[in-house]
Amino acid sequence: MFENLSERLSGVFDRLTKQGALSEDDVKTALREVRVALLEADVSLPVARDFVKAVQEKATGQAVTKSVTPGQQVVKIVHDELVHVLAGDTENPGELKVDNPPAPILMVGLQGGGKTTTTAKLAKRLTAKNGKRVLMASLDVNRPAAMEQLAILGTQIGVDTLPIVPGQKPVDIAKRAKQQATLGGYDVYMLDTAGRLSIDDELMAEVEAVRDVATPRETLLVVDGLTGQDAVHTAENFDQRIGITGVVLTRMDGDGRGGAALSMRAVTGQPIKYVGLGEKLDALEEFHPERVAGRILG
Ligand code: GDP
Repeated sequence: MFENLSERLSGVFDRLTKQGALSEDDVKTALREVRVALLEADVSLPVARDFVKAVQEKATGQAVTKSVTPGQQVVKIVHDELVHVLAGDTENPGELKVDNPPAPILMVGLQGGGKTTTTAKLAKRLTAKNGKRVLMASLDVNRPAAMEQLAILGTQIGVDTLPIVPGQKPVDIAKRAKQQATLGGYDVYMLDTAGRLSIDDELMAEVEAVRDVATPRETLLVVDGLTGQDAVHTAENFDQRIGITGVVLTRMDGDGRGGAALSMRAVTGQPIKYVGLGEKLDALEEFHPERVAGRILG
């Protein structure tokens, strides 16, 4: 579907005279291709521009190594810069702050992004890998089916869910979850907040109120990685209003190019912590910057 960036750059450099160092013109020509590739991979324009500028500074004047072609060399510089931006200064992106039990984790995002599924996937992981006792609670009071769904997933993975009490407000459910998590000796409690089809003031006010009651250790935004620029816009909004500590990108099993990850990292400054790779409850992986960099490069 997309032309491979490495091949594209080799083509560009084949047409250029080869000298001992990457000249400014060589680099400029190559970077035009890089910019197009980034945009095709769903990276937003301002982020692509900044990125290309950083690569330009690193590439110009760099001696061409004998063992590789100039095209391969620029691809390597681009790859390394992608990993650098995607990883940020986070050494271990998958690590969650879940000390001081019971640690609240707030799950936020738009409806259909995969929030409830991801809540269960993370609960399963925290239980199986980290030996934590986890309690999950659904705060989606407008959609009883969503509350039921979390309870069903909880039964499937052997993780407790907070009993559903009809008529309660999200903040009251959050308070009850905290109380039950404390009394029940849980290490972690996860609050699966309600989503809406689009960002609206009511949704944000509701999530803010829950955040203020729960004072979460982690606030994870769950976004559909296939939605490109919309996902970036969502991340920007949630980060400004709620303050997120990380992102989970879902549907990375699809054929999206992952450029949204780069934009989100750049826009929010928060790490991508996990990626969802399918509907099954073990289809969750820690974020690997190299893999997404490879995907963006194509
Ligand atoms: P919510 O409205 O944000 O809570 O979304 P759900 O958790 O209900 O997920 C919506 C749909 O997306 C469900 O059919 C999930 O099985 C599916 N889904 C969630 N995560 C992934 C993923 O990583 N990959 C794929 N292919 N599907 C996913």
